[in-house]
Amino acid sequence: MKPCPVKHCNQFTHGDTLACQSHWAMVPKEIREEFHRACRRAPGTPSHVAAVKTVEEYLSRRAC
Ligand SMILES: [Zn+2]
Repeated sequence: MKPCPVKHCNQFTHGDTLACQSHWAMVPKEIREEFHRACRRAPGTPSHVAAVKTVEEYLSRRAC
């Protein structure tokens, strides 16, 4: 498990997601689905990396 990427959040990532349960719930469904699709289909590829980046950018803009 990794720490949640959201600043000042001291939770750990939840299951196979990129954030804790409450922050992951803030990520729009389309972005979460894109991430899960990329994980299943092409882990470690540029499309997976891009999906991870999309989630992280969303959280760094929106979460607090
Ligand atoms: Zn969090």
